[in-house]
Amino acid sequence: MKKKWIAILLTAAFTLSALTGCGNSDAQGTGNGDGTVVTATTGEEAGSEASGEEASNLPEGAVTFADIKLPKAVAQDDNYRNFYEIFVGSFYDSDGDKMGDLNGVTSKLDYVKALGFDAIWLMPIMPSNTYHKYDVLDYMAIDSAYGTMDDFDRMIAEAHGRGMKIIIDMVLNHSSSDHPWFKEACSYLRSLEEGQEPDPAECKYVDYYHFSKAKKTSDWYKVSGSDYFYEGVFWSEMPDLNLSSEALWEEIDAISDFWIAHGVDGFRMDAALHFEEDNTAYNTEALNRLYTYCKAQDPDFYMVSEVWASASTIASYYASETDSFFNFDTSQAEGKLISAARGSLPAASLVSAFVKYQDSFGAVYGDYIDAPFLSNHDTGRVANALNNNLTNMKRAAGYLLTMTGSPFVYYGEEIGMASSGTKDENKRLAMLWSDANDAGKTKNPSGADSGIKSSFAPSDEQQGDEASLLNYYVRALKIRNAYPEIARGKVTIVEELTEGQQAAITKTWNGETIAILYNTDKTEDVTFTLTGTALEGMEIAGVLTPDAKGYIILKDGVLTLPAGCIAYLK
Ligand code: CA
Repeated sequence: MKKKWIAILLTAAFTLSALTGCGNSDAQGTGNGDGTVVTATTGEEAGSEASGEEASNLPEGAVTFADIKLPKAVAQDDNYRNFYEIFVGSFYDSDGDKMGDLNGVTSKLDYVKALGFDAIWLMPIMPSNTYHKYDVLDYMAIDSAYGTMDDFDRMIAEAHGRGMKIIIDMVLNHSSSDHPWFKEACSYLRSLEEGQEPDPAECKYVDYYHFSKAKKTSDWYKVSGSDYFYEGVFWSEMPDLNLSSEALWEEIDAISDFWIAHGVDGFRMDAALHFEEDNTAYNTEALNRLYTYCKAQDPDFYMVSEVWASASTIASYYASETDSFFNFDTSQAEGKLISAARGSLPAASLVSAFVKYQDSFGAVYGDYIDAPFLSNHDTGRVANALNNNLTNMKRAAGYLLTMTGSPFVYYGEEIGMASSGTKDENKRLAMLWSDANDAGKTKNPSGADSGIKSSFAPSDEQQGDEASLLNYYVRALKIRNAYPEIARGKVTIVEELTEGQQAAITKTWNGETIAILYNTDKTEDVTFTLTGTALEGMEIAGVLTPDAKGYIILKDGVLTLPAGCIAYLK
């Protein structure tokens, strides 16, 4: 079944004009817009710029990415999106103070869009005492280090003008210990006479947090000058909010109104597992309450929540009937996607996991939108997980971007940036735009270790290199955007073509079916005999190869897929 396979490079150029700065890039596909999919059948037909001698070496039936005319991407009016996660402070500095800012995000919207993303998650942007801003001082303002509300409004308008959505981090598990709510509550507690019990009618803020005269666990801290302790599970400077307080919910409703009025398209809910520790019923009810309120203000509102837990726990959180939960089972060094990219999880097991997510999440909430990812601001980066193996990093991205749902990609992953160890600051380093100039370059977060080097070129160089990781992301997202059923379709495994390192699935949505075939073997080709299966008669509709000029072969009903490649058939 397997044979050694030697990749022969085409010289047909894949150019990336969309990344040169022009914002007019509505057409995600490379096609002519008539929906036709043209596959070359011989090397001679494979691209007009191919040199005759090299092209003639292509075997019969070989198809490269450049040979495919993808249908024009059509924006769908739903919340299936390709998200790009941005840590604003480390992304792009617009005013020369070396701090990334909202105007910097605005200036890079074309960049993000040209990669193929149509939505952005901004990590916290509200005033805060820390570099990370997960301890909020004011829920209805912009941290001055990042800009102004006017900057925010302009960013939203510019994003919406490009058909892009923006969601913001909403941190409601805790506030800053310097938040006025907490400071007033503590002042009130200090003012109580001996034997006097706190009364929310006198100070409503005592109800916003968890206060007790008992130090219930090691996560409870003394309110100085009083008899009381408060809960701060993450940090003493982050007192836990009491989401049982009706008065607090009035504040939360007003906060939601505020941001929806400013045009945000949704919230990323921080630390939902911890609203009340491991109390799924309580936590899902809180999520549902907020979501229901926001949905009434904006029917298109989207919510994705962080529940850092197993797939089975995440399934239980879909009882909240909110759109999405990050699929941690897909993420990090030992997650399904990177394991498959490394070669330690065979394709058959990978697609089996896809179906498991579909069945377990869908059984709880039929309208769920899975939110798979490789890494985020709390995890090591993919380059570290895969030891800077570029081919495997491309594989990981490819597997992610074939998944049903809304994939999330952390800034800098498209260029293979590095992290170091477990220190958070080392996972949030300055985006590497260019070695040639310092335009937009931010400083690293204070506290980050010095000397952490990326093994790969900065963004501007990768944009001009079709073999780069960045351009692999572009190709994967072009294919994803050309066929909306990739994000939205229900997965069915083609059992007779799925075993060990090879797997085939179909996805059907809105009357369209696409097949996706994987070879996770480290080195060997695999072949799929389509004749007699559900895929018989399909043609190649997309090619994703770690080698930009690599090809797959479909001849006489047999598809030959080199190691690490993905084929799309229709
Ligand atoms: Ca700045």
